[in-house]
Amino acid sequence: MDLHELERDLEAGRSLVSAAKRIVVLTGAGISAESGVPTFRGPEGVWRHDRPEELSTPAAFARDPRLVWEWNAWRRERIVRCEPNAAHLALAAWALRRPGVRILTQNVDGLHGIAAVMVAGDRPPTPALPLELHGSIFHVRCTLCRTRIEHRDKIDVSSEASLPRCSDCGALLRPDTVWFGEPLDPDAIHQAFDEAAKADLCLVIGTSGEVQPTATLPRVTQANGGAVIEINPEPTPLSAHAEISLRASATSAVPALVGGPNFSRNA
Ligand code: NAD
Ligand code: ZN
Repeated sequence: MDLHELERDLEAGRSLVSAAKRIVVLTGAGISAESGVPTFRGPEGVWRHDRPEELSTPAAFARDPRLVWEWNAWRRERIVRCEPNAAHLALAAWALRRPGVRILTQNVDGLHGIAAVMVAGDRPPTPALPLELHGSIFHVRCTLCRTRIEHRDKIDVSSEASLPRCSDCGALLRPDTVWFGEPLDPDAIHQAFDEAAKADLCLVIGTSGEVQPTATLPRVTQANGGAVIEINPEPTPLSAHAEISLRASATSAVPALVGGPNFSRNA
């Protein structure tokens, strides 16, 4: 895509954005790539080095909880050093100033939430807080009882006995993220499909579109008469169906489409 084409598609995208009443934003690992959080797929994808498909399953945790915690602790230590980038900040500012924008994310890194708080300042960040479809890597839940808490402390992965345990029942705690083969939270998925169906526009940023059922959400918007704009430097299975595909990085395309944190053109 040359610059002229990109500018033309951005212009068309801005028209869709200003005409839409309700907008659902669906983000994936690609929006956090420029913050330094490794994606799963793509050239810099973390799966090149590890095999998370073998570590992000209930069976793997049952077999070797220490190994699964070691991998999650490594990811947490990387993510905690990362900051929201221009795309997270632009989206947060947009959701705060424009009613009808709802952010849904597959990411577990918490960067949308940090961006929301940063941009909101003294205001409540609520309109810019995302629905985290796959949970959060900084939350844990008990493998036995219903305990679910935020957990940011360093994890001692030196032995199985040193792993974090539930203060209520003593069972092992696990990361509160959705693993392969596990269903999403039914309330979250219901809300996501409802938002997608009601939206006039679905903006899909940095997701390979290979993880179900979230990959279906843009098609739900289209089935109800809405349009889809994709932002991804690489083509994806969604590209053939999107009204507009912006072949650019999130930090360049998102502020250009919805305005930067101090920009009110599309408000
Ligand atoms: P993915 O890793 O499968 O795909 C990432 C996509 O982002 C690719 O299509 C790639 O072309 C695109 N991309 C790369 N750099 C980009 C940039 N600068 N701007 C825009 N797009 C860019 O990601 P996914 O589809 O979100 O995969 C889903 C699973 O991966 C989810 O379960 C999610 O929880 C998990 N995951 C989350 C994180 C995170 O929290 N940041 C990181 C890795 C994986
Ligand atoms: Zn418990």
